[in-house]
Amino acid sequence: MQSSFSLSLSSASPITGRSDGGGASSTASDLFFTTATTTPSHLRFCGLRREAFSGCKSSSNNALLLKQLRPTKKISASLSTNGTPSKGFDYDLVIIGAGVGGHGAALHAVEKGLKTAIIEGDVVGGTCVNRGCVPSKALLAVSGRMRELQNEHHMKSFGLQVAAAGYDRQGVADHAQNLATKIRNNLTNSMKSLGVDILTGFGAVVGPQKVKYGKTGESGTVITAKDIIIATGSVPFVPKGVEVDGKTVITSDHALKLETVPEWIVIVGSGYIGLEFSDVYTALGSEVGSANPFTFVLLIVSQVTFVEALDQLMPGFDPEIGKLAQRVLINPRKIDYHTGVFATKITPARDGKPVTIELIDAKTKEPKDTLEVDAALIATGRAPFTQGLGLENVNVETQRGFIPVDERMRVIDSKGKLVPHLYCIGDANGKMMLAHAASAQGISVVEQVSGKDHVLNHLSIPAACFTHPEISMVGLTEPQAREKAEKEGFEISIAKTSFKANTKALAENEGEGIAKMIYRPDNGEILGVHIFGMHAADLIHEASNAIALGTRIQDIKYAVHAHPTLSEVIDELFKSAKVISASFKQSILNPTLETHSRLV
Ligand SMILES: Cc1cc2nc3c(=O)[nH]c(=O)nc-3n(C[C@H](O)[C@H](O)[C@H](O)COP(=O)(O)OP(=O)(O)OC[C@H]3O[C@@H](n4cnc5c(N)ncnc54)[C@H](O)[C@@H]3O)c2cc1C
Repeated sequence: MQSSFSLSLSSASPITGRSDGGGASSTASDLFFTTATTTPSHLRFCGLRREAFSGCKSSSNNALLLKQLRPTKKISASLSTNGTPSKGFDYDLVIIGAGVGGHGAALHAVEKGLKTAIIEGDVVGGTCVNRGCVPSKALLAVSGRMRELQNEHHMKSFGLQVAAAGYDRQGVADHAQNLATKIRNNLTNSMKSLGVDILTGFGAVVGPQKVKYGKTGESGTVITAKDIIIATGSVPFVPKGVEVDGKTVITSDHALKLETVPEWIVIVGSGYIGLEFSDVYTALGSEVGSANPFTFVLLIVSQVTFVEALDQLMPGFDPEIGKLAQRVLINPRKIDYHTGVFATKITPARDGKPVTIELIDAKTKEPKDTLEVDAALIATGRAPFTQGLGLENVNVETQRGFIPVDERMRVIDSKGKLVPHLYCIGDANGKMMLAHAASAQGISVVEQVSGKDHVLNHLSIPAACFTHPEISMVGLTEPQAREKAEKEGFEISIAKTSFKANTKALAENEGEGIAKMIYRPDNGEILGVHIFGMHAADLIHEASNAIALGTRIQDIKYAVHAHPTLSEVIDELFKSAKVISASFKQSILNPTLETHSRLV
């Protein structure tokens, strides 16, 4: 099966030094001062950074704003010339694919003074902006509000009275598409304003340090580059036997257009994409029986049925969080499920017949059931988009479609050797198929090609599922941590806090949720943090930054959090952890030493 929301990371390499080359001992304060006194080049934005600059109508406005915000020297160089290429090359860096990974790499490359071009065969922004994170979060913003407005009990507990909530399907769909268009323009403008050459066409590697681009079937233009990054992303993975018609059997690409809200939809796959869509469908319901086209007050809550090949729903999550998520996000909603089954044949609705889904037992392969429903959403993961890239010209073979790379995103050839000057980032390498991971990998590669070694610590990259409430995580799940602990011979401990004890959450009547941390009691290392609850996706960053910077619990527990805020859930988590102090450890080794404080 293709990987999608991979929590079992293939690389667990430690972060090496700070990305501006300042060595491993950087602190938050020296990062802050470096940033504030020179240029924002050290800020680690994700792929959508610089949107703030791109709201301006013209690039001259952008240039003006950038000049005000950043020192003139670097800007003028990058704005006017986009760097001067290394001798003998058209560009220092050519990136194939202008998704968030390519975009993040391009912006960082310009900051580093590299002459940079990006090749895009479709539209700038790739999956995230056009068919992924951005439109899906727009739909989820609507589903969150609908859910709240429809919850009479919740409203009453605030003393609020709200008339029956309704929605205009096309209005919701437009909100998602308009947001995608806005962010796409922002991305394009941010690259243009910095002088990145945006080349249109399909790109392919034609030899070492050589790329061709142009329309498919035409001879194209060959350009040379000192370094090349492949950032060609992924497409929905559709298993054999599934016939997608785009209307009744759909992928996320179609679902995000929200052309219909089916009364009964099967979602094949209960990863984060399937789960987010279940949140949207069950909140919106299908619009029926409306007398007035602008107030769809009569809603039938859509029925969602999950079909999951593994024995449990949400297999990628920490099991305890998965159980809680099931209790809150699945059981009380109009959702049922079949686990341990494969959908072997899915036929779209036609000739008055419904969508049919044939299920077999995942283990015995015996036929299990046939479902007849209004629609099916195939959310079985993502397949890398790496065909036609000319990889054979540099002796590279894909593995299940993914481009093999090492921990520095350097491409590995069929003999296991590194291909000089060729990198692959983002969904196309399959390490961690998330927008901010793609961008971070791009930034890491640019650091390397501009002369500073950098290895991204994938275990510090957070992930989130934007259901209501949200789920977020960073690092290892409890079973993964237990396995590692057993192999490497150390103990682990678990700390937990509840949203029920948090003033802000209770003020919002959103006390459902927990935060859980897996850590080493012997040295205070944070191994993983998992949050289920309101704004979990925002709360995770304190933990992910702590992991990225190597901050230990005994230090971060003294950080001060504003009251009353949800961040106190994480504060409590750190404070409740029991780390064995050095003096206590010493006293165990040498029982004659007196210990005052055993736990720090
Ligand atoms: C419904 C959905 C929701 C998601 N939600 C989230 C979320 O909330 N958070 C999150 O982090 N991630 C989310 N993701 C995942 C995220 O979208 C991807 O991980 C991310 O887009 C990967 O970025 P990328 O740069 O590797 O590739 P892409 O964004 O796929 O971009 C690749 C680009 O390369 C272009 N291209 C491909 N081949 C060529 C070629 N040969 N020549 C020229 N151009 C080429 C493509 O046209 C595309 O523009 C979601 C995905 C989906 C489907």
